[in-house]
Amino acid sequence: MTQHFSPLTPPQRVLMGPGPSDVAASVSSALAKPTIGHLDPAFLEIMDQIRGMLREVFQTSNELTFPMSGTGSAGMETCFVNLLEPGDAVLVGVNGVFGTRMAEVARRCGAEVTEVPGQWGRSMEMDALRAAAAGKKFKVLALVHAETSTGVLQDLSGARGLADELGALLLVDCVTSLAGHPLKIDEWGIDAVYSGTQKCLSCPPGLSPISLGTRAQEVMSARTRPVQSWYLDLSLISGYWGDERAYHHTAPINMLYGLHEALRLVLEEGLEARFARHHRHARALVAGLEAMGLEPRVPSEERLAPLTAVAVPEGIDDGAARAHLLNEFDLEIGGGLGPMKGNTWRIGLMGAGSTRRNVMLCLSALRSALRAQGGRVSGDPLAAAEEAYSRA
Ligand SMILES: *Cc1c(COP(=O)(O)O)cnc(C)c1O
Repeated sequence: MTQHFSPLTPPQRVLMGPGPSDVAASVSSALAKPTIGHLDPAFLEIMDQIRGMLREVFQTSNELTFPMSGTGSAGMETCFVNLLEPGDAVLVGVNGVFGTRMAEVARRCGAEVTEVPGQWGRSMEMDALRAAAAGKKFKVLALVHAETSTGVLQDLSGARGLADELGALLLVDCVTSLAGHPLKIDEWGIDAVYSGTQKCLSCPPGLSPISLGTRAQEVMSARTRPVQSWYLDLSLISGYWGDERAYHHTAPINMLYGLHEALRLVLEEGLEARFARHHRHARALVAGLEAMGLEPRVPSEERLAPLTAVAVPEGIDDGAARAHLLNEFDLEIGGGLGPMKGNTWRIGLMGAGSTRRNVMLCLSALRSALRAQGGRVSGDPLAAAEEAYSRA
């Protein structure tokens, strides 16, 4: 007996978690356009446009700028496997899940990893990293710009100077900051970055834009042994994204259509306007949350705009509250990770999802979830958010 399956009918959700974020309608339509060959001249033209737009969004002139096939973690792995050889020393700031993951990926490359523990919910101090380096030299200094697990924005202003003292390349995770917070690859002297499509670019997950500068390229060309991952070897993949157009693996054509449209939307809005929009809605969200008695996990000067972490109030069940949001409002927010599991909510306002409508929906839905559990909400979150908007 063959089983019969109905066509897919996934629910319509509002995505206000740590990613994926709401996908713009024109990005969804781009994904559905006709698939063509990965060496079709029409596709090569699309690739060139994607590279050009990515350079603008990364604010870099790096030749080696393109999307890897795979999610943000594939971009992370790409950077580490190409830059590191066994025995290389790496210094990693660890103040959340993604710093932890970077350290793990570096160890798997056979590197000597020095993890510098930071406080979850706070930015890393350059002096703490400097002290942990203890005057030694490192191949790579790795930091997370936007720690999505805790809602912290890392101040990168001292990072280039520190990397120079260490003799290190500066590698930065900007999965959640790209197109949501100012990020200037060239001006800030960042040697290697990776991002993802499903956060502030508002594409479905599946691609990881990367960019590596000349210092990183020199390190890669001085390698004494091949990159252990054939799939992520940039010396091979750059043959496809560069002038040779040599087959390496079949590019995910339709995902790249989606990214093309997403980047186009970012540039049409303008980077500065987009950053300001993320900032404005995050501020209104926080005002509303605070009015309800929900406390942000991160001090205001270190807070991310695309992701706000708040403490789950005493006596409120995290899982039941998020289930209420999903079942009654079709609204997804994120729970906590690691030490924040069960006690923190992570609310995303990323890309197309960073809107006044989403702020107001989330605040009223959360109030409903708190009341459903007998929580007392004295302040008026919607009025507080409105007030924040009127000040903007
Ligand atoms: C989401 C995220 C990643 C991992 O990306 P995936 O697409 O889940 O593989 C890495 N770093 C940060 C900061 C992220 O937010």
